[in-house]
Amino acid sequence: MKSIVFKLGMLVVSILLLVLLPLGYVVDQLFYTFYNNKTYEEMEQHVITLVDMRTQMDEETFIEKVEVAMEMVHEQVVYLDESREIVMNEQNTLDSLDIITEEDWLQLQQQNEIIKRQQEHVSYIASPIYNHNEFEGAIFMVTSTDDVDEIMDQVRTSLFVTGIGGLLLALGFTYIIVRKVSMPLLHMEKVTRDMAKGNLNVVLTPSSEDELGTLAHAINDLSRKLKTLEDTRKEFLANISHELRTPLTYMDGYVSLLKEKQSPEERQHTIKIIEEETARLRLIVNDLFDLSKLEEGKISLILEWIDVSEVMESVVEKVTYTAEQKKLALVIKEEPVPLLYADGNRMSQILFNLLDNAIHYTEKGSITVTMKHDDEQLYLFIADTGIGIAEEDVPYIFERFYRVEKSRSRAHGGTGLGLSIVKKLVELQGGTVHVESTYGEGTTFSIIFPLTNKEMEA
Ligand code: ADP
Repeated sequence: MKSIVFKLGMLVVSILLLVLLPLGYVVDQLFYTFYNNKTYEEMEQHVITLVDMRTQMDEETFIEKVEVAMEMVHEQVVYLDESREIVMNEQNTLDSLDIITEEDWLQLQQQNEIIKRQQEHVSYIASPIYNHNEFEGAIFMVTSTDDVDEIMDQVRTSLFVTGIGGLLLALGFTYIIVRKVSMPLLHMEKVTRDMAKGNLNVVLTPSSEDELGTLAHAINDLSRKLKTLEDTRKEFLANISHELRTPLTYMDGYVSLLKEKQSPEERQHTIKIIEEETARLRLIVNDLFDLSKLEEGKISLILEWIDVSEVMESVVEKVTYTAEQKKLALVIKEEPVPLLYADGNRMSQILFNLLDNAIHYTEKGSITVTMKHDDEQLYLFIADTGIGIAEEDVPYIFERFYRVEKSRSRAHGGTGLGLSIVKKLVELQGGTVHVESTYGEGTTFSIIFPLTNKEMEA
């Protein structure tokens, strides 16, 4: 695996090289052109002066003067007459004919123009001497480029050292920054791997409030969420086996009783209990079955135009007996509502679950069912004056297997699956479900279904 340090390092080096190399080349060329031009400028001035001198004096005086003048400068001077004969080769160290090409000589003869040339280690300049438009020879001036080369070497060394220094500095900074970023990332990776192994008690302390801090918070949230899920799953397994075992134990016992001699009344009573326990068992198994189908998305709805008031009435009828037993008032507030395109049986299951919960979790007071609509939506409210749900539990009550008060819920035969089934069924039919609750005062569940134009017409 290539680390971030390596990747970023490569990126920084590439970017710097992309910038530094052309920049270095441009700076190098600028310096070189500058020094070269300076050399030529000086030589040109000298050559022009010499040509002037030659036109103003005779050859002998000229040579004398040049010899004196040339002691002060380091250029070499060669003076050739019109037939290319060397008249003067000042400092005499250079074979001028090696430098002056045939072509250059011809050009000098034909045009009154200065020629500038450059060869390895030397620059030279040549000017023709014209007297009254007569070509009388030429003056060549040659100078070594060693000085310029030396300065250029220094410039190049400085550029190279600066470039390498900048590169190292940038790499150092990259390394420090990346380590600062990657250390917490590596720690988070370790923690998430631990989480994957099942250690959900991890808490990350964000070192900063930037993106890394947000990631640490997100991992903490994830760990908390996973822990809640894991706990509820374990609890559910423990509860469900208890739930299944209890009716089975009862049934076992009562079936044994049936085998014994019993009066017809006792027999009747035993059979009734066995029936009740079977019903309870069926309820649990049905809930589990429903939920697993819902989770897999395998449930098929039978959609048709249904009258929600009718469905509500039949559900209310079913729960009236239980409500009366607890002396709870069942209040229905309804206005005529349009037909809804939904699954009647599932709608009945939704309303039954909510009403059954409302009655179960209410000791005194009333259960109010409200049904109304506007142009776009159909609203169903089931409000009770029961025990309510604590604020910290509210976000979880629609989760599978979540039960606020475990023992109380179990006594009612609840599995903690009812509300998650309700939520899934409502959403499957295009609706939404919400809850509002005040602990100790009561709870209101609201279900909202959209009414499309087509449904309104129907
Ligand atoms: P259960 O089968 O245990 O009732 P549900 O999924 O139907 O499971 O409900 C989940 C939990 O939400 C219940 O255990 C209960 O604590 C809480 N709850 C549901 N409805 C109400 C209500 N009307 N009033 C108070 N608490 C409720």
